Amino acid sequence: MLTRENLSSANRIVVKVGTSTLTHTTGKLNLLRIERLARELSDLANQGKQIILVTSGAVGAGMDRLGLKEKPKTIPEKQAAAAVGQGILLHIYEKMFGEYGQIVAQVLLTRADSVNRKRYTNSRNTLMALLNQGVIPIINENDAVAIDELKIGDNDTLSAMVASIIDADLLIILSDVEGVYTANPQTDPQATLLDEIMDITPAIEELAGGPGTLRGTGGMYTKIQAAKIAVNSGVTMVIASGGRDGVVREVLQGHRVGTIFISKENRLQIRKRWLAFGAGVSGKVKVDKGCEQALLKGGSSLLAAGITAVDGDFELGNTISIVSDCGRELARGITNYGADDVKKVMGVHTHEISQILGSKPYDEIVHRDNLVLLV
Ligand code: GLU
Repeated sequence: MLTRENLSSANRIVVKVGTSTLTHTTGKLNLLRIERLARELSDLANQGKQIILVTSGAVGAGMDRLGLKEKPKTIPEKQAAAAVGQGILLHIYEKMFGEYGQIVAQVLLTRADSVNRKRYTNSRNTLMALLNQGVIPIINENDAVAIDELKIGDNDTLSAMVASIIDADLLIILSDVEGVYTANPQTDPQATLLDEIMDITPAIEELAGGPGTLRGTGGMYTKIQAAKIAVNSGVTMVIASGGRDGVVREVLQGHRVGTIFISKENRLQIRKRWLAFGAGVSGKVKVDKGCEQALLKGGSSLLAAGITAVDGDFELGNTISIVSDCGRELARGITNYGADDVKKVMGVHTHEISQILGSKPYDEIVHRDNLVLLV
């Protein structure tokens, strides 16, 4: 369990930064702050940590470049501003992170990428591949194409979904407030900052104001909703002020800055429980003795070579059951290949897959991170 005391052990960290932190009141980008953030995150990456940045600011940067004084009213105009601004944002990040020798990648997501199993698996695999190569993914919502029903709408929620998709240890939301207060600090002099929140009770939600308040995107309401997603996915979350110099480092050093939401359950336990009991099983594959032994030892992925039979009509992203030669269920996992393709490649070596299928999107049929043993 991650608490203030051991936050420095967090290895996979999602940092979310909002428009108010990234821009001046003039609407122009706060270059100094972006620079400091890039330096701080680069230094963490240099320490071997995996960093994912979720950034807002596309609409804001686009408005500024297009000379718009007010937020556009129509959706196409907002999307146009986002499309202009997203390029500007990435250009700045690429430049600043590049100064410190870091490679960044742009990833634009929509709601469907977390709720649709196929797209969820794809996004997870892509993000993992980037992290494994030491790249810092820079994520925003795909504002230019996401229309209402596809939209997440706010990046607090997006950042919690990303943290959950990639099994992050920690999510840090940088905001224009110091954290969660017992009352509104602007109107109540008695208001104090809450250091730690173990349970998101209705009283805590009350502190953030209901969804009906006029807070636009962001605000404390969406942050508490994000905290719910995070802690229920096994991710500890901290809300802290993006205006504080060196804030991410301070959080990781266990300083009492901002508000921490502790996740009591380990993310792997949650994920595995979901895989084992929560997800519907769409089919099964039978494996040979050698493969069975490798799987049971733990830490192995399921490769095509060990598969001897395929049953059911499953697709990439579905949960499948892995059974022994005598039909005993050994494990469950999320498949990278559909049933038709598995039938074609079962029993063959990984390097032969592309010859048979015309391409080899993945080495593993089920990656070990997406597999849970049941025996
Ligand atoms: N995706 C939006 C943008 O980049 C921001 C959403 C938010 O501020 O939460 O402009």
